[in-house]
Amino acid sequence: MANKRFGLTGKVTAMTISPLIILSFVMSVYIGYSGYRNVCDEVSHEMSGICVSVFEMLEHNQRYVTEKYDFFNDNLDLFDGITESTGIYITIFEKDERRITTVTNAVGERAVGTKAASEVVDTVIGRKEEFFSDNVDVNGTPFFGYYMPLTDSGGAVTGMVFAGKSRESVMANLFNSVAGSLVLSWITALAAGLLSVLVSRRMVNSLLSAANFLKMISQGDTECAADSRFVDRRDEIGDMGISAVKFQQALKNLISNDPLTGLYNRRACGIKMNDMCIKAETENAPFVVAIGDIDFFKWFNDNYGHACGDEVLKDIADILLNGVKNIGFAARWGGEEFLLIFGVPYKEATAAISRIMDNIHDYRCRYEGMELSVTMTFGIADYCGGTVDALVKAADDKLYYGKNHGRDSVVEYIPQEIEDDVV
Ligand code: GH3
Ligand code: MG
Ligand code: MG
Repeated sequence: MANKRFGLTGKVTAMTISPLIILSFVMSVYIGYSGYRNVCDEVSHEMSGICVSVFEMLEHNQRYVTEKYDFFNDNLDLFDGITESTGIYITIFEKDERRITTVTNAVGERAVGTKAASEVVDTVIGRKEEFFSDNVDVNGTPFFGYYMPLTDSGGAVTGMVFAGKSRESVMANLFNSVAGSLVLSWITALAAGLLSVLVSRRMVNSLLSAANFLKMISQGDTECAADSRFVDRRDEIGDMGISAVKFQQALKNLISNDPLTGLYNRRACGIKMNDMCIKAETENAPFVVAIGDIDFFKWFNDNYGHACGDEVLKDIADILLNGVKNIGFAARWGGEEFLLIFGVPYKEATAAISRIMDNIHDYRCRYEGMELSVTMTFGIADYCGGTVDALVKAADDKLYYGKNHGRDSVVEYIPQEIEDDVV
């Protein structure tokens, strides 16, 4: 038996769910990454606008033009007001040193007198370029910050303007904006996953019941019923189910029926008789057996040919089958011997055999312009306890007696003195 550690159910479930998990993961990363990029662009744009506004405000302020950095000493409220209303922090640098800032530490001290990072100084003061970073440290707090050079009337860089937003507040906004998309994508993936699992489970269950059905047949159970879960499906699994049922029927015929006459074969007849015997024992049900043999059939074959003999066998089988209809079963016991099983009281069984005998007498096989007839001899025995073999032997003994006493008869009794000899 193959190792079934990962059965079909597990494999199909994994196959169904894994792509969705991978897709959801990739989508989440993409949504998060593109959201973060958008936020960086938006914040950078917003900060650059603030820096330009501050720069222009200073350029057009006569006091700043004359007093330069001393102007800030009594104008702190101006920048604090901007920070309070927008959440954007402002710092003015003289060269690389913070002269005025709205950034404070935990105890409310402003980060004045501290220096900008060398990367910022090199870019903004050294190369006179604007600088944006999503992670600048000011006074121990991480910021999204934008730096712009401050120049004098001659165009020389005298310092920098910084506008920044705390990383914490930007990330909170980012989370709020992408959370909806993330939740939606996971709910969609979950719904798709549940649907796929449901559909694949039904498919797998159909396949498993088909496998179970075939297993039962392989173990010799030709009577087991096919589960509607796979036979009734309108797809390839359903087609397979119908083929499996046909296969079961063909196998049943092959092992239970005689190919020439279509009657039960000896094996199936044995099973039927055992069932009848149990019913007779447990429910006191009637159980009568008759064995019939075509008289002088060897002679018949020798004179008219084997093919003609076959036709006779088939026709006799039909007569027997009709004769036991609704009251029992007919089987080909071997060669030109047939066994009849009756599930009716002895009297009804003998009456049925009598009708069968009449039909055999009336029967003619048309062959090469001739009308050929055959006769049969029967031995009949009623079940009165004991084994099936003993019952069949009792019927066979009577048949034997009939063969030796004129044939073409139904033997119900063997005269006592002869029976003693037989036993
Ligand atoms: P009896 O009356 O004593 O039964 O004589 P009989 O000739 O019928 O019996 P015997 O046992 O000597 O011969 C049986 C014959 O049945 C021999 C065989 O050719 C024939 N037979 C058995 N099976 C078949 C079959 O499938 N087809 C045909 N055509 N003949 C068969
Ligand atoms: Mg015979
Ligand atoms: Mg025979």
